[in-house]
Amino acid sequence: MRLKNVPSEFQEALPILEKIKAAGYEAYFVGGSVRDALLQRPIHDVDIASSSYPSETKAIFPKTIDVGIEHGTVLVLEGNREYEVTTFRTEDVYVDYRRPSQVSFVRSLEEDLKRRDFTINAFALDDEARVIDKFKGLEDLNNGILRAVGVADERFEEDALRIMRGLRFAASLDFRIEEKTFAAMKTHAPLLEKISVERSFIEFDKLLTAPYWKKGIELLLTSQAYCYLPLLQDAQEGLKHLLTAYQPDFVFTNSEQAWAALLLAIAKQKPDLFLKKWKTSNAFQKTVDQLVSLYRYRLSGSFQAMDAYRYGKDLLLLCEELRQAQGLEVDFDLIEELDKRLLIHNRHEIVVNGGLLIKELNLKPGPELGSLLNEIEALIVAGQLANNKAAIFDFIRKKDHE
Ligand code: ATP
Ligand code: MG
Repeated sequence: MRLKNVPSEFQEALPILEKIKAAGYEAYFVGGSVRDALLQRPIHDVDIASSSYPSETKAIFPKTIDVGIEHGTVLVLEGNREYEVTTFRTEDVYVDYRRPSQVSFVRSLEEDLKRRDFTINAFALDDEARVIDKFKGLEDLNNGILRAVGVADERFEEDALRIMRGLRFAASLDFRIEEKTFAAMKTHAPLLEKISVERSFIEFDKLLTAPYWKKGIELLLTSQAYCYLPLLQDAQEGLKHLLTAYQPDFVFTNSEQAWAALLLAIAKQKPDLFLKKWKTSNAFQKTVDQLVSLYRYRLSGSFQAMDAYRYGKDLLLLCEELRQAQGLEVDFDLIEELDKRLLIHNRHEIVVNGGLLIKELNLKPGPELGSLLNEIEALIVAGQLANNKAAIFDFIRKKDHE
């Protein structure tokens, strides 16, 4: 079968395949981009697999970077783009259920495709747009089925991350997981405890932000995979709540919003600690934490100017979307209005600062000056004091006479 409508990303990358072939090796497009092209979805990261060993690949192209030589991956810089070219390989010895302790480079495409997780991820596409489909992936793709390549039990035992990957593909593509594949996922779910948290996070995050995330959560529950993910052992009720709380076709706007909804549903009191355990970045922890607090606070009242100032309009909008998706009363106009009316967006925009007040009004440094500045900031944010020197000085002088 030939791929119709070859996406421009492949066309641009074609010279890479041609150059590798001209040097006497085989080369193909592989992985998710071939799947997505067949599904006529936008593709990202074009991955190339080749029979050339890393040193051979490096000899073909003038500009390369070693990004994962031990796994056979060389980054090729051509035009203004970068392409990962990975040597055909098998992954044979898994010592601790984490990553293969050893990869063997091979010269056969079929061997390489065999080690891939699902039939719909095991296509190769050659330089004439012919689809190589060794495991009936096209049939599965047409029927919307996710099926492990080879013996499912072995595949999940080799690498339990594939369980999370499977759930997230079901959630992003709205695919059904074939019975034996799903049974094997259930059996080997306890091995998820051995998977590095960072890898699990990436897959769980993709699941939560996918269009059919509810399907992903349902599968997470029925497979009991959640029991083996960080701090989710007792989350069954919360996850069920997440399924019923939101309108059927609601899709999260971003990761921060999705994880905030998860944390609210499972009622974790300390989102930052939870996310620390998931080894997320400090910035991510902070934003999700703020969103969770904002959501809880908004349950008992409307937003004020100070909220727009302190958290920014975007976070307030994310919070309001969560409310809307649960059928709660919302006021998006108020958020726009509060933001528009703000005279300042951060402290540095105030025309006076401590130094200036000390110099021009002879105030003394110390905690009192600090509270005075806080008061000035709050009044400007509330629209009760103009952000100009005359008005602020006037306010301070009047205060002195109180
Ligand atoms: P996405 O569109 O999200 O990037 P993807 O299928 O391309 O999805 P990647 O993580 O980019 O996923 O991996 C590229 C390819 O490598 C996959 O399509 C699959 O063939 C193979 N692969 C990735 N991870 C695994 C794994 N844990 N086990 C087996 N094969 C894998
Ligand atoms: Mg990919």
